[in-house]
Amino acid sequence: MSAHPGTALAAACASCHACGLLNRLPATGDHGAICPRCGAPLHRRKPMSLQRTWALVIAAAICYVPANLLPVMTVTSLGKTEGDTIMSGVIYFVRSGDWPLALIIFTASVFVPLMKLGLLTFLLISVHRRSSWRPVERTRMYRLTEAIGRWSMVDIYVVTILVALVRLGNLATIEAGAGAVFFGSVVVITIFAAESFDPRLIWDHCDARST
Ligand SMILES: [Zn+2]
Repeated sequence: MSAHPGTALAAACASCHACGLLNRLPATGDHGAICPRCGAPLHRRKPMSLQRTWALVIAAAICYVPANLLPVMTVTSLGKTEGDTIMSGVIYFVRSGDWPLALIIFTASVFVPLMKLGLLTFLLISVHRRSSWRPVERTRMYRLTEAIGRWSMVDIYVVTILVALVRLGNLATIEAGAGAVFFGSVVVITIFAAESFDPRLIWDHCDARST
């Protein structure tokens, strides 16, 4: 691991993840080191950050397929059962002229999760390649993936509200489909993936000139 002289890593120091206290690490490394102020374990970088993030990104990418192929909700009306996937919902709203609604569902449910996975994959590859390309922009990309996590749950909210509303009447029933479970998994797993990535890794391969 390389780091330019100005970093805590180069000075054998690490700040506590819990309370922020800057500590000098023992010469043997950070294994077993704890924060003297609050007792939390100390790490130079989040442990196994790249491996964990890769595992979660791949898991989310696998769940993304059934999330889009399986119905997110099934509607039973007058004895007829119909399943709706995310895309068939978007197409339905486009056809009935509800452009803004179609755009919101498409952005939140199809585009945002895909963009998050794409950005995280790009960041992981750039760290593996020890890239020193535009660290400021890459850090911004990371902050973006962290910030937009919870906003892609819109679909689940819509299904939940519909299920609750329609349960009140007896003519039709709406149930959440298997796609909704996978869709929720994609959102939750990508939140964990963004959380397990350590953005300081982006800066470890950048020399003092690029700061
Ligand atoms: Zn502490």
